[in-house]
Amino acid sequence: MVNTNLHLIISGFSGKMGKCIRTLLADTSAHIYDAHHCLGDCLQPLVWVDFSSSNAFEQILENVRKKACPLIMGTTGLSKAQMRQLVWLSKRQAVVYDSNFSVGANILKKLVCQAGVALKNFSVTIFEAHHGAKKDQPSGTAKSLRQVLLSEQRKQIPILSLRGGGIRGEHSVIFSGMDEILSLKHEVLDRKVFAQGALYAVEWIMRKKPSHGLFNMQDVLEA
Ligand code: NAD
Repeated sequence: MVNTNLHLIISGFSGKMGKCIRTLLADTSAHIYDAHHCLGDCLQPLVWVDFSSSNAFEQILENVRKKACPLIMGTTGLSKAQMRQLVWLSKRQAVVYDSNFSVGANILKKLVCQAGVALKNFSVTIFEAHHGAKKDQPSGTAKSLRQVLLSEQRKQIPILSLRGGGIRGEHSVIFSGMDEILSLKHEVLDRKVFAQGALYAVEWIMRKKPSHGLFNMQDVLEA
């Protein structure tokens, strides 16, 4: 349950994720502000949640720095330089960054890690599908699943991407052996799972109150 005194700034306020977060908070007394109209002082405790665009990244980082508050960062498609800036910020303020805030996708990551160790001789393919308006390809989640699997023994892990219609988000990791196939799949039915995950991260950061550090959903879910 979100702290009723919470003050939350959302960048991407009017976007699909911004709307979803506001809907989940509708019955609470949390105070929610649109980042566009929040340049003055805000009351504490204050958390900034970003689900906008990598084009807005530098501006958002500068404003989060000025507010000196924790940041929950959901925007995907960040460049390597932008990731370095996020790491820089996390040495001064607490940041939770994850390319996928859903609980299921984070469990998938753990299962994939386990299967990757057990099935070293199997070849691996990652498949991801999203709605046609998604800007980054392959998805951040597919890239982080590949990162989990990369090892000395496994250098080639192709990612197949599909963009179309209103697909909320699907990730499958297929382990192919000579005589058997293991497929691990996560499918989003409603994007509120991302919003709910981001709010778990908000609760976690308010409870833990780290002065700085870069965290992800695995940290949030392990707590
Ligand atoms: P959307 O297109 O519906 O909304 C984007 C919002 O950002 C809009 O309010 C838009 O006005 C704002 N915006 C865009 N460019 C901007 C700029 N230059 N400056 C200021 N504001 C700007 O997108 P969405 O589906 O809500 O997704 C937003 C981001 O979150 C995307 O990067 C998406 O990939 C990511 N996402 C992450 C997760 C996760 O779990 N980490 C889940 C879903 C979406």
